[in-house]
Amino acid sequence: MDDLNTAYEGKAQPMPGGDEKPLVAIDMSFCMPAQKKRATKIINAIAENSELGRDLLEQARKDGYKLIMIGAQGWAGQVDADHKYLYLNACENDDYLVKTMAHECRHIQQFARGAEYDCSVYNIRDALRFSRCKEADAEATAAAVCHEIRAKTGYDAPLKEFAKEHPEIVGGFEKAVKNPSSPVVTNEMMQGAFDGWYKEDAMVQTYETGYIVKGALNHCWDREADQSAYFRKKTTSAQILKTVCANKDGSCYWENELDTLNRPERLLISEATVNRVDEVLGGLEKVTGKPLDRSYRDMPRRETFRAGPVKEKGPSAAVLKTIAARRAR
Ligand SMILES: [Zn+2]
Repeated sequence: MDDLNTAYEGKAQPMPGGDEKPLVAIDMSFCMPAQKKRATKIINAIAENSELGRDLLEQARKDGYKLIMIGAQGWAGQVDADHKYLYLNACENDDYLVKTMAHECRHIQQFARGAEYDCSVYNIRDALRFSRCKEADAEATAAAVCHEIRAKTGYDAPLKEFAKEHPEIVGGFEKAVKNPSSPVVTNEMMQGAFDGWYKEDAMVQTYETGYIVKGALNHCWDREADQSAYFRKKTTSAQILKTVCANKDGSCYWENELDTLNRPERLLISEATVNRVDEVLGGLEKVTGKPLDRSYRDMPRRETFRAGPVKEKGPSAAVLKTIAARRAR
């Protein structure tokens, strides 16, 4: 690691790969010429230097996705699997878009492996387990792609940009890296990044609101929606993991803990979400006449989980210190 790092230290290294001709011919017919050059650069940095990343790009190409780069706010990338669009936010820098491209293409690969595009087919508890797993996996995979680029070329700007935005994810990944010059990606590295995703509370909450409260709970009232199709499907932690968390050879990087999605810290839900779900599901039950799964009510509340057993009426800080000291013995 040190040799490689020293070799590149202090030099503003250009992104490896070049911007002349894309190594993976993803449809860029919707991109303006300047964007095509940028997109080519991003594709080549990945395709030339990351085996894992190249497979992801090939999947997007094979599935007919059209790349669109537009200026936007609040997101770096998106995939529209209904219309086969792959969006990158042109306002982000190229290094961050390397990570973003890997993330979005991983979603495309998840769908190709049978993951649901619309998580609202699942009951609320499973929709949360599934959507979180899908995102945590896409981030872990993006970290792995950035790591492979670093290992092959010494170019670590994508990983650094990623770490600026998501220190827990990259930190979790890096903790398990023994040799940054080796492109090997281990289950421990993937698990470390995956765990990191769940530690970024604000983001987990944002996805909960995005996927469930603003997403599914509204969509199910669309004029054309079939209300009885929502929130019914059931799945398991192992099923989700085996579909979503796949290594290159098809094995699952959570094979040693196939119930990991049931860890309490992965099941947090905010009280406001529970209340809104209660309202909407009550309405759906009236319309369809069929009862819905209510197991989301048993999920631990985000508001109290981190605080642990100590609430406002708990012992004072001084008392806690004494207790902690006693426990330490
Ligand atoms: Zn995503």
